[in-house]
Amino acid sequence: MTGALRWAIVSVMQRTRASRISPRRCGSRAALAAAALLAFPGCAPEAPPAAAVRPDVIWIVVDTLRRDRLGCYGHTRATSPELDALAREALVFERAYTSAPWTTPAVGGLLTAQAPSALGLVHERSRLPAEWTTAAELFAQAGYRTSAVVSHSFCSSLQGFDQGFEVFDETNVRGYAEATSPGVTARAVELLAREDERPLFLFVHYFDPHFAYLEHEAHPFRGPRAYAGPVRPGQRFEELERLVPSLGEPDYERLLELYDSEVAFTDAAIGKLLQALRARPRWERTVVAVTADHGEEFGERRSLGHGSTLFGEAIDVPLLLRVPGRGAERLSTPVSTLGLLPTCAALAGLADLPAQLGRDLLRAGPPEPVFVETNQGGVLRAAIDGSSKLIADLATRSSRLYHLRLDPHERADRAASHAAEVARLEELLAGWLAVATEPRFTPEEAQLDEAALERLRSLGYLGGR
Ligand SMILES: [Zn+2]
Repeated sequence: MTGALRWAIVSVMQRTRASRISPRRCGSRAALAAAALLAFPGCAPEAPPAAAVRPDVIWIVVDTLRRDRLGCYGHTRATSPELDALAREALVFERAYTSAPWTTPAVGGLLTAQAPSALGLVHERSRLPAEWTTAAELFAQAGYRTSAVVSHSFCSSLQGFDQGFEVFDETNVRGYAEATSPGVTARAVELLAREDERPLFLFVHYFDPHFAYLEHEAHPFRGPRAYAGPVRPGQRFEELERLVPSLGEPDYERLLELYDSEVAFTDAAIGKLLQALRARPRWERTVVAVTADHGEEFGERRSLGHGSTLFGEAIDVPLLLRVPGRGAERLSTPVSTLGLLPTCAALAGLADLPAQLGRDLLRAGPPEPVFVETNQGGVLRAAIDGSSKLIADLATRSSRLYHLRLDPHERADRAASHAAEVARLEELLAGWLAVATEPRFTPEEAQLDEAALERLRSLGYLGGR
């Protein structure tokens, strides 16, 4: 492990242990590269458009949606006709990565364009400090009406994610076992109808692909042979986890059939929302982004769920961006979803943006590295640059290296035989750790009374992901 990364790790591990935060400097080339990554590109046009002619900006975030289970990303099962249709008129980012593999940090990153650990969003009761400027606040300041529909406790007002939204609908936060996508669409369509002269920023969060995996009557996916194993629709995650040691390929296949059913069910609901959007006179001035907060593991490393690994199944996410006046295109450069806010801010011509936002994804320029993090079950940080991916375990101070083109499923750790490439990526990672991940404001925790705790427990949220 390089000296630069070892040095950065000391600081991160100190913070992880909640010790005092100390200011640091980093003058290395890697730090400058990371700083450049974060510097907002100054994308506001010389004369920002008046509020009345700014585009509507719609963000659709699907919880736990793996990129490889969508037709527009090569899946052969018909899970996503609606998103596939959107992809045919959108920019399709073929290599988009979330900033963290579980809901709170990932959505926090989307809403602020900041690295989750800089936000202090590291556990299930972490709360976004009010000092941060959110997407909703930026759009509101520019004259937008700002509305949201969310369907998971981990991206709710509990985390302070309602900051800046005029309307923040949480009526579909109903636990793991209930299908909520049609309800989410209904509320979003209702909010769309509350038209006024202002442009709209709408954030819509769907939850159904997250466990528990239900089987939807309208979207059954069954293999040619009858399944007689222990996997059942709607099983509690804890029960599935207990089964892991005995699960075999047919069981994982069955889990993926159920998951695909949830994806198709959600896709149909998103289709209804897209239909409502297309019917509005403002459709020709509507930017639509679709992405996910993270993926899901189905036994690739003999584990299920998400949160504690940074392999592709957990961090590769779809990213579709429909930009009026710009045709469909597939883009193969690695990008972070932290770039969604600066991209949409640029498209909307927002002025007076705070510094240190992520990168505008439509800005010309050489590709830049992507960084991902988790503090669940360990302290892992990943750096992706071109075809190389480094996963550094900051607790054990060890790194793995993968070649994503030659080894897309990340099976062969090349760290031992490619020391120079490991050192190069560790240097990039050290720069990012130094400038992008230090909490700038005092981390906050949601304060819950006993009734609130009981409600969360009854929905299965506490201890979940
Ligand atoms: Zn999530």
